[in-house]
Amino acid sequence: MPDKVAIQLNDTHPSIAVAELMRILTDQHHMEWDAAWDITTRTFAYTNHTLMPEALETWAVALFQRVLPRHLQIIYEINRRFMKDVMHQHPGEAALWQRMSLIDESHGKRIRMAHLAIVGSHKVNGVAAIHTRLMKETIFADFHRLWPNKFVNMTNGVTPRRWLNQANPALAKLITRRIGNGWLKDLDQLRQLTALTSDADFCNDFVRVKRDNKVRLAQLIEQRLSIRVNPDSLFDVQIKRIHEYKRQLLNVLHIITLYNRIRAGGTAPPRTVIFGGKAAPGYRFAKLIIRLINDVADVVNNDSRMNDRLKVVFIPNYNVSNAEIIIPAADLSEQISTAGTEASGTGNMKLALNGALTIGTLDGANVEIRDEVGHENIFIFGMTGDCDRYKPVFDNLTCHGDYYRLMADYESYVACQDRVGQLFGDPSAWTQKAILNVAGMGQFSSDRTISQYAKTIWNVVPKARKQT
Ligand SMILES: *Cc1c(COP(=O)(O)O)cnc(C)c1O
Repeated sequence: MPDKVAIQLNDTHPSIAVAELMRILTDQHHMEWDAAWDITTRTFAYTNHTLMPEALETWAVALFQRVLPRHLQIIYEINRRFMKDVMHQHPGEAALWQRMSLIDESHGKRIRMAHLAIVGSHKVNGVAAIHTRLMKETIFADFHRLWPNKFVNMTNGVTPRRWLNQANPALAKLITRRIGNGWLKDLDQLRQLTALTSDADFCNDFVRVKRDNKVRLAQLIEQRLSIRVNPDSLFDVQIKRIHEYKRQLLNVLHIITLYNRIRAGGTAPPRTVIFGGKAAPGYRFAKLIIRLINDVADVVNNDSRMNDRLKVVFIPNYNVSNAEIIIPAADLSEQISTAGTEASGTGNMKLALNGALTIGTLDGANVEIRDEVGHENIFIFGMTGDCDRYKPVFDNLTCHGDYYRLMADYESYVACQDRVGQLFGDPSAWTQKAILNVAGMGQFSSDRTISQYAKTIWNVVPKARKQT
């Protein structure tokens, strides 16, 4: 079976499949436990998508007992054998045994679904280099110590067919006219655009395409929201689920700073700050942030003193279809999560692929985007990934306010935004960096991700294609 089938557990939600396959092999096909377990662990692999503790789901033993009693028996047997191994490797470390067990005894008996996924898989991967490192050092440190080779990194990617060719046909056409269409299936070919940053015709065409896409988005905004935005202003875009760790609030604080500066007579290039994103149904605070953005937008957009130098837009119903219109029109991509909290991000890749410059923290795939596009072509600010080392010191200093440390990054964020404003005032320098961002996105094709999965986890090779 493992030679013909690979099952990738996409987060912990489907981990019950480990027990289900064991049930099918032992109960229905009458296999011995050891042979069944060998097939199961060679078939499954598990992708972890977040370090947020609330995502590490546990299911109550009582629920299992009532709904899936046979699966519960199997999980107990998996755990009995696993615990025997752990106790053999680490004798006398009772605290470690408790931490690693598939059963959490501390909050009423509960099954730790992530532990089931790790124990039942031959590979466990994170979705960006920093995320995989933190996964090995924090939430799964005990498992990494036991099985160092089980843990691998598979940096996420986005498909260039949707996020460039389909969403931005004008840019796709321009690129194809200059370097051919090989990039559609081999995104690394975008590196050839580097040489075109000194080609005036290409740069002018690139600017025209961006401007046309901004006009298209401005029309959508006017139609849906009756807000007029200036296509020559800096389109400053933050589109993603609304969550405290993604720090839409930090962006709102920056808007208020810009507002106060304009009221005090300061100058800065005109900006349109665009938000999109949904909150989880039960996440009250995130919904309050959406309301705040809309209220700040009302104040800013209706203040005649702004003289059209600042506009704020919240585009409702953020989804893939809307993303395909917003992303090609972005000048600036906001990727400002607290360092260490965003596993990878893929919005960051889509926006850079469409010629937006990134303002971001050293978090998730932003770190690797910086490596690919060059640190001089991206706006990095804020604390680095190891921000939790002195958390106890920090907590002592601040009691319990500002959990996601907006104040800690506020000053440096505003200073970095000032550099964005300055660069936007020099359109040719801006455009060069924008092109170099597109040129650096080859690494972030999902084709590369999938071929890494195929080689390292699934042990499959591409089937030769028929010539047509
Ligand atoms: C890409 C995408 C996301 C992920 O965005 P992040 O900025 O990586 O959080 C979320 N929603 C939609 C509709 C997307 O297209």
